[in-house]
Amino acid sequence: MPFYEYECPNGHILEKLERTDSYEIECPECHEKAHKIISVCTFKLKGGGWYADGYASKKS
Ligand SMILES: [Zn+2]
Repeated sequence: MPFYEYECPNGHILEKLERTDSYEIECPECHEKAHKIISVCTFKLKGGGWYADGYASKKS
């Protein structure tokens, strides 16, 4: 079962197990609008994971 992740502008990650049609929810931490993020892959890309793998390994 997939779950849904939301990220607010302050970097709080919210995980929702239940299905919801809303694209935005309110962050319980800071009450900003949290946007749905699609997948773990998206999260890794934002963190620069592939970039680090591709370039850092060529440096000593
Ligand atoms: Zn927040």
